[in-house]
Formats: sequence, C-alpha cells, structure tokens
Amino acid sequence: MQHTSYIEISKSAYQQNLQFLKEDIDPKTQISMVVKGNAYGHGIEIMVPLAEENGIRHFSTFSSDEALRVYEASQHQSQVMIMGMLQNEDLEEIIRKGISFFVFEFDRLEASIAAAKKLGIKAKIHVEVETGFHRTGFEWEDKEWLAHLLDENTDYLELKGLCTHYAGAESIANYVRVRNQIKNYKKIKKWFDSQEIKFEKYHTACSAATLLYPETKMDMVRLGIASYGFWPTQETYMYRFQSLPEDNKNPLKRLISWKSSIMNTKAVKMGDFIGYGSSYMAPRDMTIALIPIGYGHGYSRLLSNQGKVLIRGRVVSVVGTVTMNSIAVDVTDLEKVQKGDEVVIIGKQRDKEITIASFSESSQQVNYELLTRLPHDIPRRIVE
Ligand SMILES: *Cc1c(COP(=O)(O)O)cnc(C)c1O
Repeated sequence: MQHTSYIEISKSAYQQNLQFLKEDIDPKTQISMVVKGNAYGHGIEIMVPLAEENGIRHFSTFSSDEALRVYEASQHQSQVMIMGMLQNEDLEEIIRKGISFFVFEFDRLEASIAAAKKLGIKAKIHVEVETGFHRTGFEWEDKEWLAHLLDENTDYLELKGLCTHYAGAESIANYVRVRNQIKNYKKIKKWFDSQEIKFEKYHTACSAATLLYPETKMDMVRLGIASYGFWPTQETYMYRFQSLPEDNKNPLKRLISWKSSIMNTKAVKMGDFIGYGSSYMAPRDMTIALIPIGYGHGYSRLLSNQGKVLIRGRVVSVVGTVTMNSIAVDVTDLEKVQKGDEVVIIGKQRDKEITIASFSESSQQVNYELLTRLPHDIPRRIVE
C-alpha cells in the first residue's frame, strides 16, 4: 500500500556530518548518537543500523521504550543509555539487557541496587549531577550519602559515567550560566576523586557544547542535532563560520527529505474562496494542486497561506488553510502539472531547496520540534 508521503534519509549526508564532527573530537572520546524523539524524527530503526555501519557503537535515548527499540535494531551489540524516563518496575528488564541509565535521585538508585541484587547482575549507571540546569541531577548537598551508597554497593553497581547537561550551550546569552555549570561539574568530579570514587566515563557535551566549548568533550560526547545535519542554532553556525575552510562553508548536511505527490488539480475562478472559510480568495483565475499532507502529518496549521513546497523544480505557495490531511498549492504558473507529480515538502528538487529552518521559522518551531513531530508511520527509507 502506498502512503500519502514518505521520508528519505541520505546516507552520504550522514557520513559527511560524522566526518566533520570527528575532526573536532579526539579519537579517544566516544561518540554517543542521541536517538531520542524517534531519532529526531528520522526513525530509530533506520538510524541505528546506518550509524553502526559508520562505526557508532553507543546510543542515547530519553526513555526505556526507545532504548528497547535501539536494542532490537542494533546489529553490533551497541551500548544503549537512557538519559531520562525509566519506571522502577522496568529496571530488571533494562539491567538484564545491559542497558545503562542515568540516575539522578535516591529512589531510582535504591531501586536499581535492589533489582541488581535480585538478578545477580550489576546495574550500569550514570550518576547525573546538578550543575545548573535545574531539571534533574543530584544536589551538591546529596554527595556524602550518594558516595556512601555507591561505595557500599560496588557489587551491584557498575559506575559507567558521571554526567550533566548544559542549559542552553547553543546560545551566547547563556554563556555565564554554562561556564558556571562547567565549573560546578569540575568541582563535583574533584570531590568524587578525593573520595576515590571513579567513573568509567565523564561526559557532559551535547552538539552545541561539542562545537563551542571544547573542554566539555571529556570521555564521551552525546551528539544529537548535529549528526542529523543541523546547527543547534544560527549562532552556533556563526561562531564556527570563520574557521571553516573556504571550500566547505556548509559542512553539516541535512539527512532528511519529505516528499509527497499531487493528489489532483483543479481550476478555480477569480473571486472563488479556496478551502475552508474565507482565508484565501483567488485573485485571478487559478490552477491549484491538492497535496495529501496536513496538520495530522505534522504540517503545521500556522503554514496556512504561508508554506512553500517544490513542484517541477519551482517554489509554490500554500493557498488557504492547512487541513488535517491536505494542503492546496498555487500551480497556476507551472506548465504541465499533473496528478502524481512529485512534491517536495522538505528537501531539494532540481536547484531549489526547502530547508527545515525556513520551514520551521514560518511555523515558529525550532528544528528539533518540527523534526520530532514528523509522524512515526510515514515510511522512511535510506537513499545514497
Ligand atoms: C538531547 C540531549 C542531548 C543531545 O542534544 P543535541 O543538542 O541534540 O546534540 C545530549 N544530552 C542530553 C541529556 C540530552 O537530553
């Protein structure tokens, strides 16, 4: 059965991104590919084997359900790490499968120790510490009790990591806050050192930190958005622009394209309203094409009368409101448009391109949001 649209993932773009990012990363520093949010909308089952083909052996997810999907999709016994949600009742299965996870509060720590005791298998934990993000992480005041528990339960715990997350390394406005976090992290690390509690890996960096704050890279970097070919923000790109070689000013390549096809075309008379309500009245005799994607597929209603797509190598505009399952676009000035023609919603067609950035700006979303809202059931396939 054909779907109303499909997503293509470019293998060569991924390889180029990885190559560019690796130039910045010491070979001894492990890359963990962040695949939360269904691999930023790209599809976990697509991205895990593709990353493994390119040497990646560590993946990070938000939750345990995603971690199990990575575990199933892996063909190389890659390590899987849960950075967020995990119910205590799922701990046993996660520990049995050798999946590691962040621990940021005593309840989870105690439950992990209990589960590990019962199974006779060590729980692989990453101790997350509060440095200034103020969402999750053990407080400085917790350190003695925490150290005591870690020390007392070495038979049940494998200390895989000591970690934290930065509160907006992608924006210079947060510079002071991030600097303070780095300082706080170092202080905590030093304190654990003084207690002779060692962790296998010290890790703090996301994409933006990796690109802008070299000292945050340590033993492992957790790369999300940049691996998918997006600068975390325009600022991050500007910051790095000067140092990029003349012949490669655009080293991060988007992996994703989103395509559909024309469902039907229709002639509309001047003065007719197009679609629901009266948001668009034809200013001349027009031909419109209907495309079978709408807000139900992640194409925001805010793109009503705003969005652009590519047909026959030309940029054409959405006319009228975005509905649940379709949009109408103005193809009056295109020759020989017909049912079945390819429509590019995100990506390239001939020499034209609709970038996610332009698309998400007009719908006031950031890249991260638009990508992860792409429905899971749109078929995805890898292309060269
Ligand atoms: C999402 C996330 C990352 C990756 O962030 P990017 O900006 O996409 O590179 C790293 N660490 C944690 C804890 C995260 O939640």
